[in-house]
Amino acid sequence: MAAIMHRLLKPTSPSLSSSISLLSRYLSTFPQNAVVDPKGRNVQWVFLGVPGVGKGTYASRLSSLLGVPHIATGDLVREELASSGPLSNQLEEIVNQGQLVSDEIIISLLSKRLEAGESKGESGFILDGFPRTIRQAEILDEVTDIDLVVNLKLREDVLLEKCLGRRICSECGKNFNVASINVKGESGRPGMSMAPLLPPPQCASKLVSRADDTEDVVKERLRVYYDKSEPVEGFYQSQGKLMEFDLPGGIPESWPKLLEALNLDDHEEKRSSAVA
Ligand code: AMP
Repeated sequence: MAAIMHRLLKPTSPSLSSSISLLSRYLSTFPQNAVVDPKGRNVQWVFLGVPGVGKGTYASRLSSLLGVPHIATGDLVREELASSGPLSNQLEEIVNQGQLVSDEIIISLLSKRLEAGESKGESGFILDGFPRTIRQAEILDEVTDIDLVVNLKLREDVLLEKCLGRRICSECGKNFNVASINVKGESGRPGMSMAPLLPPPQCASKLVSRADDTEDVVKERLRVYYDKSEPVEGFYQSQGKLMEFDLPGGIPESWPKLLEALNLDDHEEKRSSAVA
């Protein structure tokens, strides 16, 4: 392990090396405290997918269902921006142009998040928005074992609309979507409808849009995804860990199908009947 880390760290800057060491430190405790899902699988999962596909929505639902943290690196970046900390000026420009933040910064934010989680006794994770480059995937691979990678897919003609409709409650941080998507079927291609995900009354007057959810920036984020992040799908496919999932529509249609694909549908039924 030490030799691999040495080879991996050699061409990197000292600050990236120390961030990777921290990441390794927190993740190396995880296998002992593994969280297993009802099917006996370890839950160190990754969600991949283009911006706006719904990674946050489904990763957060699964995190509540399975009792593991949902860690979204985009949220960590936004928290850092909002904190007006030392990195925020540098980050703001990058994020608002739809570009990727450096590996050093992302890995350092992720390590800090894992450190905070460890002190609360957290274990296992569903990562969303990381890894986003082959380099990040290699680093993650060297420091821990990923058990499953879910690649969410959605037809491209609705992605922009979904991003433009996205809203966040500035108070509680929950995500909503005001877009009402209704694409008509044509030339043998089926239509698709997605109902808006509207906020409860207490959030309705506090909705804000993300600064990087404008049309030009979303297009740039999609371009960056195809250039830098899509190869990560192949990385995990070659390891036999990739599960492709085509979203058939909005949450009511997609959530039960995703649970079925993950073989967790009976678990959710049992849990809902226990709660009812
Ligand atoms: P997201 O909420 O996942 O769309 O992320 C918002 C922004 O945060 C991205 O457009 C990037 O600028 C930055 N970001 C999030 N995760 C990463 C990552 N793994 N690597 C580099 N930049 C990231």
